[in-house]
Amino acid sequence: MLVENTYDLIGHTPLMHLPMETPNKVNIYAKLEMFNPGGSIKDRLGMALIQRGFNEGKVHSTTTIIEPTAGNTGIGVALAALKYRLPVKLVVPAKFSFEKQTLMRALGAEVINTPSEDGIKGAITKAKQLAAEIGDAYVPLQFQNTANPDVYQRTLGPEILADLRDEPIDAFVAGAGSGGTFAGIYKSLHDVYPQLKGYVVEPAGSILNGGPAHSHRTEGIGVEFIPPFFKELKYTGVKTISDDDAFYYVRWAAKNLGLFIGSSSGAALAASLEVAKELPEGANLVTVFPDSSERYLSNNIYGV
Ligand code: PMP
Repeated sequence: MLVENTYDLIGHTPLMHLPMETPNKVNIYAKLEMFNPGGSIKDRLGMALIQRGFNEGKVHSTTTIIEPTAGNTGIGVALAALKYRLPVKLVVPAKFSFEKQTLMRALGAEVINTPSEDGIKGAITKAKQLAAEIGDAYVPLQFQNTANPDVYQRTLGPEILADLRDEPIDAFVAGAGSGGTFAGIYKSLHDVYPQLKGYVVEPAGSILNGGPAHSHRTEGIGVEFIPPFFKELKYTGVKTISDDDAFYYVRWAAKNLGLFIGSSSGAALAASLEVAKELPEGANLVTVFPDSSERYLSNNIYGV
């Protein structure tokens, strides 16, 4: 495969039919988003946010791009901004992975840390404050920018449908941070399969199931407020996965499938196996593995 630049490598990731025993012999198909060049599902979003900024006249050749992020969106935004040589400042709560912050800097972005205890809300406030100070700045704000679900509805959903061709899809399971991934793909699949069941995955400590908010080790998913993209969305339910279960499946996937998955993927696999118990024999379930364990090695993700 001959390619001319890094950006041509974004998207068109593999869909793996997981070779494993499952409840009710359900087929679990996982979209392997760690194969994007920046290493995650959020490369798609980085390009979409910058392009929308240009299209709306909010970004021109000297505009500083500022975004609050847990990390992967920051890498995606830094990669996209590099294409247009735009300056980038990423506001990241200090707790998020060292590897992700290093990669953002490698792409030329400035990383500004906010206190971990202020969460993503603290990063959003800081990003807006910086933009006001700079003036010629643009905050795409993944948490409310419709380019976020749109890019997944436009690219990732159709890729799954094309790969499964005539196989009907019975259930879709995916984690939510901003909620863009879930909302966009769910809409795309639901348009074709109106009976589709959709389950959002969150770590214990996230608020979708009404449980108490607290910190968690599963990185990239979990919400501090209901994503605006979920307002009109009629999904089936929420699966709340403990950190222990998420990390168990991270280790399990390496040992049994030879696959390096991050903790949000571990949570997605744990939730998929729970959903499989509720599905008829031989049903088809699609899930998403957003990134790889390799960007969490400094957190001792394998405990080895
Ligand atoms: N997993 C990982 C590792 C992520 O970085 C993100 C994005 N924060 C997600 C899942 C969730 O994606 P979304 O923001 O689209 O809900």
